[in-house]
Amino acid sequence: MADNLLVSDSLVHKIAAARELKSATQKKIITSFQKPIISFSLNIPGPNKNLQQYHKIYIAGYKAIMKMVNNNSWPLLFSHQKNNAAGFQLFLSINTDVKQLKIQSIKLEEKHPLGRIFDIDVLDNLGRAVSRKDVGFTSRTCLICSNNPLFCRRTNKHTLEETLTAINKITDSFFSSGELRKEVHKHG
Ligand SMILES: [Zn+2]
Repeated sequence: MADNLLVSDSLVHKIAAARELKSATQKKIITSFQKPIISFSLNIPGPNKNLQQYHKIYIAGYKAIMKMVNNNSWPLLFSHQKNNAAGFQLFLSINTDVKQLKIQSIKLEEKHPLGRIFDIDVLDNLGRAVSRKDVGFTSRTCLICSNNPLFCRRTNKHTLEETLTAINKITDSFFSSGELRKEVHKHG
């Protein structure tokens, strides 16, 4: 709790402004290309969204998304990356069916070891967010318990520290096993 109180007002405002900018960027890209977009960021609560360890998660997500685009032969019209108080962000304008984009993005979130930290939003050519429900999936569950994450956020069920610890645990196990794989490859 004390940690939360130390977050300065100016940082809170910076994050709010960065979120507004993110939404404006989404709208601008949709207006320019008139096609659906993927808007990718990380589910990292709290004031520090730009740490080096989070950049590693972002890069892993970026690579997985680009691989998904290539594997599906989706025509990529525009790509833009940003890093500000709202964290690391990727915007892609893609000329394909919006529901397919959402379905494949959900599958990526569910299959990738870091997928629970990924937040892959899909918006249609009118700027409307496509929900998991729209394409026949249930809502995501909380990183820590099995509840709806909105419920946990609203009721402050978990402390910031508890959530960041859970995120670090997922991250550490992914990157340490990655290092291990490289070692095995080198020697085997
Ligand atoms: Zn929870």
